[in-house]
Amino acid sequence: MLPPECSSEVLAGVLIGEQWLADGPPLEVINPSTEALIATVGGGNAETVELAVQSAAAAFAQWSTSTGALRAQVLRRIARGIQQNRQTLMALQSRNNGKPLAEAGLDVDDVIATFDYYADLAQGLDAAQDRDVELPVSDYAARLRREPCGVVALIVPWNFPMVTTAWKLAPALAAGCTVVLKPSEVTPLPELALARIILEAGLPAGVLNIVCGTGLAVGAPLSAHSQVAKISFTGSNAVGVQVMQRAAETVKGVSLELGGKSSLIVLEDADLELAVELTCGGGFYNAGQMCSATSRVLVAEHLADAFVAKVRARAQAIIVGDPFVDGVQMGALVNRAQYERVLAHIARGLASGARLECGGGRPQGLAQGFYVAPTVFTDVALDSSLWNEEIFGPVICIRSFGTEAEAIALANQGDFGLVATVVGRDRVAANRVADALQAGMVWINAPQVIFPQTAWGGYKQSSIGRELGPWGLAAFQELKHVVSAG
Ligand code: NAD
Repeated sequence: MLPPECSSEVLAGVLIGEQWLADGPPLEVINPSTEALIATVGGGNAETVELAVQSAAAAFAQWSTSTGALRAQVLRRIARGIQQNRQTLMALQSRNNGKPLAEAGLDVDDVIATFDYYADLAQGLDAAQDRDVELPVSDYAARLRREPCGVVALIVPWNFPMVTTAWKLAPALAAGCTVVLKPSEVTPLPELALARIILEAGLPAGVLNIVCGTGLAVGAPLSAHSQVAKISFTGSNAVGVQVMQRAAETVKGVSLELGGKSSLIVLEDADLELAVELTCGGGFYNAGQMCSATSRVLVAEHLADAFVAKVRARAQAIIVGDPFVDGVQMGALVNRAQYERVLAHIARGLASGARLECGGGRPQGLAQGFYVAPTVFTDVALDSSLWNEEIFGPVICIRSFGTEAEAIALANQGDFGLVATVVGRDRVAANRVADALQAGMVWINAPQVIFPQTAWGGYKQSSIGRELGPWGLAAFQELKHVVSAG
């Protein structure tokens, strides 16, 4: 049922209705841990995008008017199908993205939880539909309808392939939208496997269409298509801006989840061991390829020396390597381009005078694969690219601060505002700092746990809109009031 994990045949990378197509522009898919070619996927182009949009448009009448209860059933069957294929999906995530198997397991569990959560929300839609609206006069009556917004385009990146897809796809299907999904050309394999599970779960043909391919060949025509009502995009700011510009021409809705340069603040009464653990988790999980990476670490002055020494020791002890080997804690970066980009950031950081505490290049003993050792910088200038730009690799910068106000100002500096972490024993102080931070999610003394019930997205240039929770569903709905006289 699932696509072969290693094969010389060209895998179908386009799904139109129930039909898989493999004859478009080939995409070479690499295993970042070995640099070996693991699959060739037949991608799409503007013509395939047209077929996919027409297929989604044809399926809309029936799916959009189906009951929430029916959609809930389908979403639950999808969740169970994913559960049954958990091991295969984990292996595909690790092989295609390079992340350790344990992290891939957390990804798959998140996807299952997301489909189950939106099944529950879909279940609740029927009873809430056509609710009376209280009016200040008695000669009019009004009711409220929530209707699916139409054919939607979902464009996703490579760092948490199936997770980013699930955060968009589950609420879109729950709302009654029909979908054209464009996976990242770097990591199409998990999504292609997921699509087969979804079809087996009984999603009607045409409700989900997939076009793998590059941003220019597929993403651009999809963002511009006049029959696409809404685009939900996760990726870089540069591309997010282009998507928004194209969407503007036909006034379509956009939800954007973009970059981050997030902070972790170690307050003066923090538990140092916990602070070190959360710093390494926030900086090196998924090899730092997280929009939510807390790569700016701010530590109270009197803790700084001891903290830096402990972070350095912990970073040096992280076991980097083959994601399938037991005990490996960090994998390779996703491809050569990302590897070179991160090394260039490190080189610029060194040139700017920052002090390298550890890492800074390829870990010893790993001659092949796109590996970068966990890297820690101190003495980082406030105007350096290291401090201001998203690195998207296992690189953190540590600075000390004198007062709480200074920490907050440093954390809020810049164009992004996705997440933050605060570490401190005094709950009142930690909450005061959390409330002052410009970020869509703040964790206090906690790792980066994300629940389907809590909103995902950020302030400033990190996002437009929110995913997850009821907000994720509302992003795929139109509101309609019907007001009658008499
Ligand atoms: P990217 O912007 O290069 O690509 C994202 C997706 O957009 C891919 O599917 C790509 O093919 C497509 N694309 C590229 N050019 C396009 C175009 N002109 N029109 C339409 N689509 C196009 O991002 P990436 O390198 O895949 O991912 C890394 C970025 O994603 C980072 O900046 C990271 O912060 C961001 N990200 C954000 C979140 C979040 O929730 N805020 C989550 C994950 C990743």
